[in-house]
Amino acid sequence: MNEIDREVQNIIDREWERQQSVLRMIPSENIVSDNVLKALGSCFVNKYAEGYPEKRYYQGQVNNDALERLTCERACRLFGAEHANVQSYSGSPANMAAYMALCQPGDRIVGLGLNSGGHLTHGWKVNFSGNLYESHQVEVNRDTERLDYDEVEAFCKEVKPKVLFIGTTSYSRAFDFARLREIADHCGAYLVTDIAHVAGLVVAGAYPNPVPYADIVTMTTHKTLRGPRGGMILCRQEHAKALDRAVFPGIQGGPHMNQIAALAIALGEAAKPSFKEYGHQIVKNAARLADELVQRGLRIVSGGTDCHLMVVDLRAKNVDGKTAAIALEKAGIVCNFNAIPYDPNPPRHPSGIRLGTPSITTRGLKENDMPRIADWIVGVLEAPDDQAVLDNTAAQVREFLKGFPYHHNG
Ligand SMILES: *Cc1c(COP(=O)(O)O)cnc(C)c1O
Repeated sequence: MNEIDREVQNIIDREWERQQSVLRMIPSENIVSDNVLKALGSCFVNKYAEGYPEKRYYQGQVNNDALERLTCERACRLFGAEHANVQSYSGSPANMAAYMALCQPGDRIVGLGLNSGGHLTHGWKVNFSGNLYESHQVEVNRDTERLDYDEVEAFCKEVKPKVLFIGTTSYSRAFDFARLREIADHCGAYLVTDIAHVAGLVVAGAYPNPVPYADIVTMTTHKTLRGPRGGMILCRQEHAKALDRAVFPGIQGGPHMNQIAALAIALGEAAKPSFKEYGHQIVKNAARLADELVQRGLRIVSGGTDCHLMVVDLRAKNVDGKTAAIALEKAGIVCNFNAIPYDPNPPRHPSGIRLGTPSITTRGLKENDMPRIADWIVGVLEAPDDQAVLDNTAAQVREFLKGFPYHHNG
């Protein structure tokens, strides 16, 4: 690299070093394989492909068409879907396309509230979904901190939404997708499920698959699915045309074909038996970590986890989520602060942190490694201002992680 690009390369090198030397416990992050990285940097980055296979607006599409078809086939086979659209730039535009395919601006929608685990794109006020549509938000039950399906049904019967949009970024319990289908049917709504976080677990058979029940299933491809940053949408054949039209030309121009090449590779990796093991190991690690934290005096929202993540209520340790997240980062444990349902504290200083196991599981950590991590976390929560504790923990984390390779071949 020449002198000027050395400036950028130095930053990339430092990021590579950072990622390897800390416990990355943000549940939406992962580590892609060497092959996924290579495909992202492939010559497809140079090529425009507006449109769909055999219906493009530029010439020179022979390889784009083959690549996009292969990727869609792999997606449909892996999830048991009738139709796939792999062009969404990311999860948020994928959700926008789902709304556009099923309803009109001003229509009523029901989504899960943010503090209950919903995403911004599920009808939050400052997001397009809360602006363009008449958004109503359902919350988890105050006592159980879980979705109470009778409450959801009563709510939907009252609101009569055109679309019931269910998915989460921090709800640790498996959804009952069959029941959600029933609810949608009872109130004449379409059902969209957003499995951005759990897509990889679904493929691995470690989490229920909503594809048989939902009209449209949206997801990101870079979380547990362990592919490139991007979005993907599956749907029933009856919605295929409207959905494709919503993605292009409704929202986007040309798809990122290098991202699609990388997605094809990630879907190939996800079809291997080793990915099944990976998905189940993620869940085992999360369950064990939750147990170990409870044994050390912390409370897990909803009482535990069925998936890769958990929200930890920190109030027993007299520290707020923001202070904890900052202290943990100094100690080599990277997570994010997170509200708990009905959080009595303000959003900037909520009562919880969110922890996930996808990245550390990719590195090869197993259940038996979780008690050690719980010790480190609790040590920091009990002394967030003690620089010696933070430095000492960071050094131990760094040393420990030297035993776990950062790259993999899927
Ligand atoms: C991450 C996420 C998204 C958004 O994905 P981006 O790629 O960040 O736009 C949407 N929905 C859910 C449930 C998510 O977790």
